[in-house]
Amino acid sequence: MKSIAIVGAGQSGLQLGLALLQHGYEVTLISNRTADQIRAGKVMSSQCMFDTALQIERDLGLNGWEADTPQIEGFGIAIADPDAPRRKQIHFVAPLDRYAQSVDQRVKMPAWMDEFERRGGRLVICDAGIEDLEAYAAAYDLVIVAAGKGEIVKLFERDAERSQFDRPQRALALTYVRGVVPRSPLPGISFNARPGLGELVIFPALTVSGQCEIVSFFGIPGGPMDCWSDVVTPDQHLEKTRWLLDTFFPWEADRCRNIELTDPNGILSGRFAPTVRKPLARLPSGRVVLGMADAVVVNDPITGQGSNNAAKCATSYLKSILELGERAPTQEWMTQTFERFWAYAHDVSAWTNAMLLPPESHVLNLLGAAGKVPDIARTIVNGFDDPRKLYRLWMDPLACERYVGSHTGSLEVTA
Ligand SMILES: Cc1cc2nc3c(=O)[nH]c(=O)nc-3n(C[C@H](O)[C@H](O)[C@H](O)COP(=O)(O)OP(=O)(O)OC[C@H]3O[C@@H](n4cnc5c(N)ncnc54)[C@H](O)[C@@H]3O)c2cc1C
Repeated sequence: MKSIAIVGAGQSGLQLGLALLQHGYEVTLISNRTADQIRAGKVMSSQCMFDTALQIERDLGLNGWEADTPQIEGFGIAIADPDAPRRKQIHFVAPLDRYAQSVDQRVKMPAWMDEFERRGGRLVICDAGIEDLEAYAAAYDLVIVAAGKGEIVKLFERDAERSQFDRPQRALALTYVRGVVPRSPLPGISFNARPGLGELVIFPALTVSGQCEIVSFFGIPGGPMDCWSDVVTPDQHLEKTRWLLDTFFPWEADRCRNIELTDPNGILSGRFAPTVRKPLARLPSGRVVLGMADAVVVNDPITGQGSNNAAKCATSYLKSILELGERAPTQEWMTQTFERFWAYAHDVSAWTNAMLLPPESHVLNLLGAAGKVPDIARTIVNGFDDPRKLYRLWMDPLACERYVGSHTGSLEVTA
């Protein structure tokens, strides 16, 4: 196998394309947007990446913004008191062992596209449809579809057994702002939950005009935080952001009194169903293409795993491609390539899905204990870098209670 076409110039497609070039492959990347269109377009994500994913970028020499991007050193979790919701019932802040960072995809992807061409890759601007996929599948040894949430990913059948939900679990909104007073001590991520209503997450990032903070809302559909349908202009979006902060998260509103939009495109609202798809799609000709990252495993962003997963998926696929060497990719190899990633991604998806549902009592007990025992708090916040550890604590009540008991000397910890 020597020639590979990748549809989609996002986190996974560009990262894999750039890595394959380093290994001497002939790579064509198909993007439905030019670098300038991405740079001048709307934000698509809040893209907070933890150390493991950042290290992948460092190893590939793709971390050009690291020195200019705020370091996310700490992670705080607050849950409102159901009886007095303007107060926090559970609250803790713990340091990340190694910092996280968020670089606006409008900054990163155009630069990676330029770098891809500079390193000898072929970039094609085309909104690829089935006929294009047929042409690529006939001309290249392997076609990988890394088109994120694009329409074309519907070619990959939804895997009903692996998809827990069939509808969106949160109404999502992002507001890129300046003027937030950084959290002190330990500037970084603030994750806030209003049980039954939704969540608010705030963290610093680098955007097209410099450093900023990203304010993200996750409203339970049909509830009062599901409130974006009448918002049309950027000013209305900012007003709604202020209203949500004041109404539901007063302890965060105080440090957001002077927020202003970074730019009129620094806003987003929408929703999608978390979905796992079958990894192979058969084209009308019978040829088969392989899906990667969000195209086949898309999680709700509540746990901030998508870009991290995309980086890890591209790395896992790279390993499988290198191991295949000169041999032709069979359907069996494609399936194994995905299953190797799914062995990791399963736990991430299951834990993320659990975070979308009301917490079970052992999880509340764990979070309450984290407010009192710094080691537990540290385990939880650092688990976002590799959620397999959190999966066990969330999914196995006995293991969770044993873990809490081993730190507190008791199984009963109230918030
Ligand atoms: C509100 C929100 C907040 C988020 N916050 C975080 C976070 O804090 N941390 C985190 O890790 N993840 C976060 N994510 C998720 C993360 O952004 C995605 O999971 C990640 O970008 C997926 O990478 P990808 O390579 O699979 O796809 P993408 O990065 O979406 O790239 C896909 C690319 O394919 C292109 N494309 C689509 N269709 C076609 C076509 N037919 N032909 C050619 N090109 C096509 C698209 O234009 C796009 O450029 C968030 C997502 C959302 C929606």
